[in-house]
Amino acid sequence: MLNIILLGPPGAGKGTQAARLQAERGMIQLSTGDMLREAVAAGTPVGLQAKAIMEKGELVSDAIVSALIGERLDSAGEAGAIFDGFPRTLAQAEALDLLLTERNRSLDHVIELAVDEDALVARITGRFSCARCGTGYHDSFRQPKVAGVCDVCGSTEFVRRKDDNEQTVRTRMAEYRAKTAPILPYYEQRGLVRRVDGMASMDEVAAELATILDGTS
Ligand SMILES: [Zn+2]
Repeated sequence: MLNIILLGPPGAGKGTQAARLQAERGMIQLSTGDMLREAVAAGTPVGLQAKAIMEKGELVSDAIVSALIGERLDSAGEAGAIFDGFPRTLAQAEALDLLLTERNRSLDHVIELAVDEDALVARITGRFSCARCGTGYHDSFRQPKVAGVCDVCGSTEFVRRKDDNEQTVRTRMAEYRAKTAPILPYYEQRGLVRRVDGMASMDEVAAELATILDGTS
């Protein structure tokens, strides 16, 4: 039963890889945002507590998030866990250690899908898609066969997402660094951090993750 933290900035493919790990290995993804929404919707004891706090416009405390993760781990049986979006602070990292220890689990790896910021900017800002059928293209990597004409439906109208601009990408990278900076040294000291090249293809990234996970006994 492997328990990992998966880190990566927007655009590194974290969601795709987490979905594959769930499908291929039966791991469960513990994303704090999703868990909060689910617990509130399901009306679990912790969910009701969280709901009352959020309705007052206050932030849900670490204690509540920890309790939620505990609930999910208890119902997960032998499934390994992928922590996503937690921990964000040293206090949360320590809380996670305790949660795992109490359940005879341990954290096996902290895996970061690393990206080169300039390459990520090029990857994201080059994206565009057909306005009619939605087929995706890229300025550098996947131009239509005939310039200006969609390969699939023949439309000549294309769109770019407003978010796919350099400023947004750089802002998200800065936010990501700020969020992970408090916890990476804590795990680096313990030799748990592994970095995978998030700019490689999805299959290559998945293969590297498998090597890391299977290398753990
Ligand atoms: Zn099209």
